[in-house]
Amino acid sequence: MTAIHLKNLVKKFGQTVAVAGIDLDIEPGELFFLLGPSGCGKTTLLRMLAGFIDPTQGIVMFGDKDVTHAPPNKRNTGMVFQSYALWPHMTVAENVAYGLMIRKVSAQDRRKKALQALSKVHMEQLANRKPNELSGGQQQRVALARAIVVEPEVLLLDEPLSNLDAKLRLEMRSEIRNICTSLGITTVYVTHDQKEALSIADRMAILKDGKVQQVGTPSEIYLEPNSTFVAEFIGETNFVHASVTDHGLVTSFGQLSASKQITGTEAICSIRPEAIAVCDSPAGTNSFSGTCVETIYLGEVAQHKVQVNGDIVLRVMEANPSHLGKVGDQMHLSVAPKDVVPLQV
Ligand code: ATP
Repeated sequence: MTAIHLKNLVKKFGQTVAVAGIDLDIEPGELFFLLGPSGCGKTTLLRMLAGFIDPTQGIVMFGDKDVTHAPPNKRNTGMVFQSYALWPHMTVAENVAYGLMIRKVSAQDRRKKALQALSKVHMEQLANRKPNELSGGQQQRVALARAIVVEPEVLLLDEPLSNLDAKLRLEMRSEIRNICTSLGITTVYVTHDQKEALSIADRMAILKDGKVQQVGTPSEIYLEPNSTFVAEFIGETNFVHASVTDHGLVTSFGQLSASKQITGTEAICSIRPEAIAVCDSPAGTNSFSGTCVETIYLGEVAQHKVQVNGDIVLRVMEANPSHLGKVGDQMHLSVAPKDVVPLQV
């Protein structure tokens, strides 16, 4: 299995800095996600890994090999794009075997390996069909088989599920996870979809303006964001302004204690809606009360908006809801210190 090391990687297109100096170490066999808003440089970074784009500066290493300026066919990568780009005139098996033909593998071995790759994505039964006789999800499986058939060291996936409907995306998510884990291929996966990343990534990097903002496991990124940008980008959150004092974080609706310390005199506290508990009566530490300004019952959860002071309205997600108050009711809330994440202003 192959590690990937990026050292001060930069890509400029004229005046546009698409990738602005990225240092990243991806572990052998890891399923690693690149996540960030549109235009943050995800695709450019992935294409530099594939060899389609030449970096302006910096180094790309696959293990101990420097592949920075190696052409695509000299690095052992497989790639799956948003558009599957299957050849319409070839059968499924021929599409999958195409990369092997380029590599001068014998016809007999090509067929055998193509069928093996197709069986990994549960498509061997449809090997003789043409792409236009397949559903979108089936075509995407073929694209995946085509990428893994060449036994790549590194698999690069660029929004591979974006053309599928919601149900298929869910199915394919876990299938991609299983394939990457069972084959032990180091995989770099670009997506806009934070749920996709949270659900199957080993680790992820959050990018903004061509720079890495934070690297971590899904729970590290979700529970311990290092900036307001990351906290807001991944999931929903409440931001509360606080003064940092010797006694804790002082907000306009009371004092909060947080597990994590912060330096300076001001902080923005990130509190996830589901981390706020709705209580029957005022509770101890980190408890506060407010007026319900909206409540939406959704069965397994209720979404409340609670005005805790002046113009501060907190979003609260109550699981298995029992506090189905009316607008105008008093609500008592509390949050554990570990769920109050103080961030630099
Ligand atoms: P999206 O999520 O919308 O696909 P992205 O994060 O993948 O975006 P990139 O496609 O890597 O972002 O683009 C990063 C920046 O580089 C953008 O400002 C884009 O306009 C610019 N860019 C990308 N490719 C080129 C190019 N060939 N020529 C000029 N500018 C480019």
